[in-house]
Amino acid sequence: MDCLFCKIVAGEIPADKVYEDDEVLAFRDIAPQAPVHVLVIPKRHLAGPAAVEKEDAGLAGRLMAVAAEVARQEGVGEHFRLVVNNGAEAGQTVFHLHMHVLGGRRMEWPPG
Ligand code: AMP
Repeated sequence: MDCLFCKIVAGEIPADKVYEDDEVLAFRDIAPQAPVHVLVIPKRHLAGPAAVEKEDAGLAGRLMAVAAEVARQEGVGEHFRLVVNNGAEAGQTVFHLHMHVLGGRRMEWPPG
């Protein structure tokens, strides 16, 4: 499948990994928008949050648990933002489900 993040999972494209288990991978964003910017992805291809079925609830919950663990590991465990975009108009550019973990600076609201 021609999916960038599947290629990272397969080791065909390098990534700066910060966490890995049998189902989940986390690596640093190539264009960081904050001092800490990590992407947490399922190894199994799902196009985005809209593709998550109730049967995937365990995996989806695991993504958030890993995101919180990564935030702690990166020293921003008390103040961080999780972002999951769905669809181009919402800002999704890579169509493999991923959770952005952003931290290390003050976040504004509403987001752009
Ligand atoms: P989104 O816009 O929500 O789909 O997020 C996709 C993210 O993937 C962006 O923040 C990109 O900077 C990031 N990205 C694209 N290519 C790579 C790569 N090869 N390694 C790490 N992050 C990437």
